[in-house]
Amino acid sequence: MNDRKPYLVDRLQEFGITIFAEMSALAERTGAINLGQGFPDSDGPDEVLEAAIAAIRAGHNQYPPGRGILPLRRAVADHQRRFYGLEVDAETEVLITAGASEAIAAAILALVEPGDEVVLFEPYFDHYATSVALAGGRRRVVRLREPDLSFDVADLESAIGPRTRLILLNTPHNPTGKVFDAEELGHVARLAIRHDLLVVTDEVYEHLVYDGGRHIPMATLPGMAERTLTISSGGKSFGFTGWKIGWAHGPADMVSAVLTAKQSLTYVSGGPFQHAMVTALGLDDGYFSQLADDLEGKRDLLGDGLRAAGFEVFPTAGTYFVTADIRPLGFDDGVAFCMSMPERCGVVAVPSAVFYDDGEAGRHLIRFAFCKQPEILVEASRRLAGMAGSGS
Ligand code: PMP
Repeated sequence: MNDRKPYLVDRLQEFGITIFAEMSALAERTGAINLGQGFPDSDGPDEVLEAAIAAIRAGHNQYPPGRGILPLRRAVADHQRRFYGLEVDAETEVLITAGASEAIAAAILALVEPGDEVVLFEPYFDHYATSVALAGGRRRVVRLREPDLSFDVADLESAIGPRTRLILLNTPHNPTGKVFDAEELGHVARLAIRHDLLVVTDEVYEHLVYDGGRHIPMATLPGMAERTLTISSGGKSFGFTGWKIGWAHGPADMVSAVLTAKQSLTYVSGGPFQHAMVTALGLDDGYFSQLADDLEGKRDLLGDGLRAAGFEVFPTAGTYFVTADIRPLGFDDGVAFCMSMPERCGVVAVPSAVFYDDGEAGRHLIRFAFCKQPEILVEASRRLAGMAGSGS
């Protein structure tokens, strides 16, 4: 490779600096509206903010326990029972992490031997690929196919081989906004059981499901709780992405294995924010349904704006994201298009190619985040409309 990156170990050579940092820096530099990275532009609930301040004032400022504070582990268990009927033992089956990101990395480092294969659905959140590479694992991808982003069960079957250790699932799904339905999850579960695989499931967007749809945790499928590590985080459910409080739950031995890796990453993190997250997870059902209604409205606002600007827009059933096809505007290279957008129209988006092993597959797609104030989405739509017909 002639563009070899100095210092960097072989197993990370294929990766650059994450696209989100690059696009956010571009937005900052140019003053463009940043619809690239998925973070809300307003704070979460006041009572949760107050709980964090109170926790700092109350002196919860030293290392929390390695597994996280017990009240938060109990709050995670209560949340899983309240929303999904899952029974989770807070003492042994829950681990608090530095965001879902750390849970994912620690899970893969703990569960995947060098040379083991991890099956991913493509496009995928880019953190998965680096985590697999850090562990010395290899990824095998199963394509979510346009136009409906379904997968072919035969593709999943053929991605599974003798070295497959686990399937890494993400529902609701970043970047597409797909929410895996019961039948699809059933196929994954059946194959995981048949081939004795583990499933690591990233459910950070669990409360962001629209149009009356529902999120189904993989661990609720028959025979799956005993082979599934479920990961989520307070970032998306409560609008505190900077606090980086995440969690994982699964069988006690699996959680202990993940703890072994986790303790060499951050050891522990976020002391006072762990206390605040207890308040957050205890918010009433009305909070969660309001959150989804609010984001559904924002999805529609930006979706309408994108359609009016001439993009073809994929349906989004959950998450912060909407995917658009740039070809109707006369472009076909999403990377070049996104690099030119700040200047062209003062809006930043992310090229979906970065979420594919085969970048060609997502070349014509770009991803927008709609977790922003309505007036920002209206202004972004206005700017994007000005681009119509300016295709190269
Ligand atoms: N998983 C997915 C699918 C995500 O989109 C994100 C954030 N972009 C994360 C995990 C990371 O979550 P956290 O900020 O809690 O580490």
